[in-house]
Order: sequence, then structure tokens, then C-alpha cells
Amino acid sequence: MSAPAPRPGILDISPYVGGEAHAPGVDRLIRLASNEGALGPSPRAMEAYRQAAAELHRYPDGGSTALRDGLARLYGLDVSRIVCGTGSDELLGLLTRAYAGPGDEVLYSAHGFLMYPISAKSVGATPVAAPEKGLKADVDALLAHVTERTKILFIANPNNPTGSFLTSDEMRRLHAGLPGHVVLVIDAAYAEYVDRPDYTAGSELVEEFGNVVMTRTFSKIYALGGLRLGWAYCPPAIADVLNRVRGPFNVNSAAQIAGVAAVEDTAFIEESRRHNEIWRDWLSARLTELGLEVHPSIANFVLVSFANRSSDGNQAAEAARQFLKARGILVRQMGGYGLPHCLRMSIGTEEEMRAVVDAVAAFLKGEA
Ligand code: PMP
Repeated sequence: MSAPAPRPGILDISPYVGGEAHAPGVDRLIRLASNEGALGPSPRAMEAYRQAAAELHRYPDGGSTALRDGLARLYGLDVSRIVCGTGSDELLGLLTRAYAGPGDEVLYSAHGFLMYPISAKSVGATPVAAPEKGLKADVDALLAHVTERTKILFIANPNNPTGSFLTSDEMRRLHAGLPGHVVLVIDAAYAEYVDRPDYTAGSELVEEFGNVVMTRTFSKIYALGGLRLGWAYCPPAIADVLNRVRGPFNVNSAAQIAGVAAVEDTAFIEESRRHNEIWRDWLSARLTELGLEVHPSIANFVLVSFANRSSDGNQAAEAARQFLKARGILVRQMGGYGLPHCLRMSIGTEEEMRAVVDAVAAFLKGEA
């Protein structure tokens, strides 16, 4: 007997495939395929996680109260506007579910995060990708693609996988051009890595306007991807909506407890940010010296193009990925994002960065 058909659009979804995590026959892996924090979690978060075991028979706090208090204190935000989720993925999905449906459009920038079209299709909405200019979101192109059916505009800032960003002024211009019925979701998953005066993660826009949401994650600089923890900062009415549609105990107790300890360890986060800056600049410079085109990044990864290596850049990128993988180094080829001639490499430890540069140099030497 055949299985019942799901709702229209569901079978148009290609399942999300994350960065590779295994290489057969290799004992020591260097995992640079998923933009995970290079230094791992704060030791204080690890200790708190271990202690969480004592209360595993209890349901978690359904309101993630201590965690929201910690975030509000650290970032100077209004605690009532914070909603926590099982990774920011859950919050992106809940926003889509609450604000878009069949016949609606969900707009994003062409090389935006894959979960935007997946979330749109999962509620029967139509994903609409606006073209970019030079691998950067184009405010005019985004605004030109807004229709009366657009319900959500997702913009990752900084963007994964390009590492580019919209300045505060550009983000304001984008918002100013949007009709009030569109929810602007600023996905600031990599915000903690950024140290630039012309950048904003968007919390002040959330406080100023009723249609802007900022989402954040513990999977990147906090390096707690395994716990699945994220949060959204919302106008009061949107926080209310998210609290209506989310599951009753959506954030597990270990994630809440470790999350509180992680945000309190500000010295460790600053160390992680500085480490990232130093090694991102170092990796970009070395790969450029090797003749590769490295797209400027303000996040914890770089996008490296192999387009100029041969007449077939896609094949060169694939060959480089395989070469690295055979040496235990996992990076991500960006075909799913329409950039098959590019590899994305996360910033890792010093040892990992030196190993990846040596391996890329060996690959290019063999290719010459
Ligand atoms: N947004 C962007 C731009 C991302 O790159 C990622 C992770 N790859 C996410 C959201 C999802 O993060 P989380 O682990 O919090 O679900």
C-alpha cells in the first residue's frame, strides 16, 4: 500500500544536509565544515552541563527564565522580548509557520541560508530568492522582489556562506523600503564574531519597529551546537505569537543550564572572538598567497573560490575537497548554495589552520 501524500510542496524540499563529519579510515579528523566555534565551549558551560544530569527527571523550565535573564543582562535587552528555541533553526521555522502559509511568499537573498526556502516550502509558501551583487545581499534587488504576498524577509547578517554583511545603514534602508506587513528577520547567527562600528545585529531595530526580529544562536561562538540552543529578540506582539506556537518545553534543561554559564563567561567569548579574528585573517592571507580567491569574511569561516584554477572551477573545488578529506580535513563545497566552485572553511585552532593551508598548498602543487 502506498503512503498517503503529504501537503503540496513538501516533496519539493531537498532535505538539509549539514557539513561532513566523517572520513572513512581517518583517525584524527579536522572538522571545518560546519562553522562550529574553534575553541569549543566555555569550560564553565561544560561543568554546568555535567551538573544538569542531577535534574534529568524534571521537565525543564518552559519559559527558559534563567537563560533569558542571562541574555538580557549580557546584551542589555528587554527580557520579555526574548524567546528561546531548539537552535535558531526552530525559531526560523516557528516564525515561518506563524506568519506565512499557502499562497504567501518568503523572500531571501540568493546565497542565503538553506533553511529559509526549506521553512517556506514546509508551510506551503513560495520561497523567492533575490539576486545578489558580488556575493553580497542587494538591498534594491530585495526590495524589488517584495509583493503584497511577501510575508517574511530573511536576511542573515553576516551571511553564511559568503561572510559578507549589510551595514547598519543598509539594513535601515532595507527596513525603510519594506511595507509594514512584512516581518524582517535578521538572522545574526555569527554576530558575536563581528567587531565593526558599521555593523549591527539589529536589536535596536527590534526595539524601534514592530516588524523586525533578530535571531541568534549558541551553535557558533558559544560552540554548543550539540545542545541545539538559539533565541529570538522580538517586538512584544511577535514574542507573544512565538510563545503561542512553540512547544511547551522546547528547550531542554541541559541546554538552558549550560547556556546560562556560557553567557556568563564573557572572558572566554572574547578570547574566542579574538582567536577567530587572528586566524581568519591569517587563513585568508595564506590562501590568497597560494593564488586562490578568498571572499572577505567577518564571520568564523571563509569562502574560497576555485573558479580561477581551471576551466572547470566546480571540478577543481570538488577535487580539492576530496584531497583534503583523504587527509582527514573536512570542508564544505557550496553546491547547495549555488556556489559549487567554492569551498567554505571554518576557522579552527592554530594547528588546524596550519594543516589546512599545508594541505591546500600540496593540492595546488599536484594540480600544477
Ligand atoms: N542561521 C545561519 C545563517 C546559520 O549559518 C545557521 C547554522 N548553520 C543557523 C542559522 C542555524 O543555527 P542553529 O544551530 O542555531 O539552528
